[in-house]
Amino acid sequence: MPNDTNIKCVTTHEVGHSVGLAHTNVVNSTLKSQSIMTSGEDSFVNWNNTSPSSYDKDELLSKWGY
Ligand SMILES: [Zn+2]
Repeated sequence: MPNDTNIKCVTTHEVGHSVGLAHTNVVNSTLKSQSIMTSGEDSFVNWNNTSPSSYDKDELLSKWGY
Protein backbone atom coordinates (compact mmCIF):
# COMPACT_ATOMS: atom_id res chain seq x y z
CA MET A 1 0.00 0.00 0.00
CA PRO A 2 1.64 3.28 -1.07
CA ASN A 3 2.03 6.03 1.51
CA ASP A 4 2.01 9.79 0.92
CA THR A 5 5.77 9.82 0.34
CA ASN A 6 5.51 7.10 -2.32
CA ILE A 7 2.74 9.06 -4.07
CA LYS A 8 4.94 12.19 -4.03
CA CYS A 9 7.75 10.12 -5.49
CA VAL A 10 5.62 8.88 -8.39
CA THR A 11 4.15 12.36 -8.98
CA THR A 12 7.60 13.96 -9.13
CA HIS A 13 8.73 11.19 -11.50
CA GLU A 14 5.78 11.84 -13.83
CA VAL A 15 6.42 15.59 -13.75
CA GLY A 16 9.99 14.71 -14.77
CA HIS A 17 8.62 12.89 -17.82
CA SER A 18 6.38 15.85 -18.63
CA VAL A 19 9.44 18.09 -18.85
CA GLY A 20 11.18 15.63 -21.12
CA LEU A 21 13.29 13.50 -18.78
CA ALA A 22 13.80 9.85 -19.62
CA HIS A 23 14.39 7.02 -17.16
CA THR A 24 17.76 7.12 -15.45
CA ASN A 25 20.13 5.18 -17.65
CA VAL A 26 23.35 4.81 -15.70
CA VAL A 27 25.07 1.80 -14.17
CA ASN A 28 25.83 3.62 -10.92
CA SER A 29 23.39 2.20 -8.34
CA THR A 30 23.88 5.17 -5.99
CA LEU A 31 22.87 7.62 -8.72
CA LYS A 32 19.88 5.42 -9.51
CA SER A 33 18.71 5.28 -5.90
CA GLN A 34 18.97 9.09 -5.67
CA SER A 35 17.38 9.92 -9.01
CA ILE A 36 13.68 10.67 -9.18
CA MET A 37 13.69 9.37 -12.77
CA THR A 38 14.74 5.78 -12.04
CA SER A 39 12.18 3.37 -13.50
CA GLY A 40 9.77 1.73 -11.05
CA GLU A 41 10.87 -1.57 -12.60
CA ASP A 42 14.52 -0.95 -11.63
CA SER A 43 15.74 -2.77 -8.53
CA PHE A 44 17.48 0.42 -7.32
CA VAL A 45 14.35 2.60 -7.38
CA ASN A 46 13.82 4.47 -4.11
CA TRP A 47 10.12 5.03 -3.45
CA ASN A 48 10.93 7.43 -0.60
CA ASN A 49 12.72 9.87 -2.88
CA THR A 50 10.59 12.98 -3.45
CA SER A 51 12.98 15.55 -4.89
CA PRO A 52 15.33 15.68 -7.87
CA SER A 53 18.94 14.64 -7.33
CA SER A 54 21.90 16.57 -8.72
CA TYR A 55 21.94 13.96 -11.51
CA ASP A 56 18.33 14.86 -12.38
CA LYS A 57 19.13 18.59 -12.32
CA ASP A 58 22.10 18.01 -14.61
CA GLU A 59 19.87 16.06 -17.00
CA LEU A 60 17.37 18.94 -17.03
CA LEU A 61 20.14 21.45 -17.67
CA SER A 62 21.62 19.40 -20.50
CA LYS A 63 18.18 19.08 -22.06
CA TRP A 64 16.89 22.62 -21.65
CA GLY A 65 19.80 24.97 -21.45
CA TYR A 66 22.43 26.33 -19.23
ZN1 LIG B 1 8.70 6.65 -15.80
